[in-house]
Amino acid sequence: MTPLIATFAGVTGLSIGSFLNVVIYRVPRALSVVHPPSACPGCEMHIGARDNVPVLSWLALGRRCRECRMPISARYPLVEVFTGVAFVLVALFFAPAIAEARGAAAVVGATLELFAFLVLAGATVSLSAIDFELRRLPNRILAFVVIAGVVLLVPALLLGGHAELLISALVGALGSFAFYLALALISPRGMGMGDVKLAGVLGLYLGALGWAQLAVGVMAAFAVGAIAGAIVLIIRRSVADRRVPFGPWMFAGAWIGIAGGEAIAAGYLAAVGLG
Ligand SMILES: [Zn+2]
Repeated sequence: MTPLIATFAGVTGLSIGSFLNVVIYRVPRALSVVHPPSACPGCEMHIGARDNVPVLSWLALGRRCRECRMPISARYPLVEVFTGVAFVLVALFFAPAIAEARGAAAVVGATLELFAFLVLAGATVSLSAIDFELRRLPNRILAFVVIAGVVLLVPALLLGGHAELLISALVGALGSFAFYLALALISPRGMGMGDVKLAGVLGLYLGALGWAQLAVGVMAAFAVGAIAGAIVLIIRRSVADRRVPFGPWMFAGAWIGIAGGEAIAAGYLAAVGLG
């Protein structure tokens, strides 16, 4: 069943990626994501269904608008491919729990958990793209992700018989938010309020999986951020270019916590003689 779910998730991810391209362009500009329909920024021609197939249309049209031949950025198919791959990986990771669940309630719970982390995957692609481009994490997307997290994860944990994880989810959300808020107050230039709010959102999702995922996810963000910061220092000469967004590294750390948190925490505890 898992390969079937992963294939379906991949195809869905390509389409969601197509929608995320709209989100990435319009949300920071305070435009509606549903109206008007997509149009070429060069000639404003409406983009029809046959020209809106993820990745394939971009290749078929020779990377240009059908009407005015304006080049279309490679960012569009890249966002679609990233989202498709992310959805496949999330499905491969969370679908086995659906197959192993015993009883209808547990199956529904495990399915809701999969949906929650697909939402987080979509948020990872869209918010990272916006943060890289504009160094912002728009409230509209953060609000959507936190509401989806509560609506999907609370029933998922209750139906799955893991009410105790509600505590780590709550501690994760409030604790990460408070920790980043303290960092932002100490060093306002290093950390923005967008990062503080994102920390609360990621803490909720990580805590819903457990304490190990929460601890590793939060700490890995700083490790990844430090490595990325060092690379930027080496490759960029001017100081003005050296300011880097922190959101993408928070997401990278969170996914390390989600996928490897349990194993990393167990390995660490064994290494210090507590495991
Ligand atoms: Zn055009």
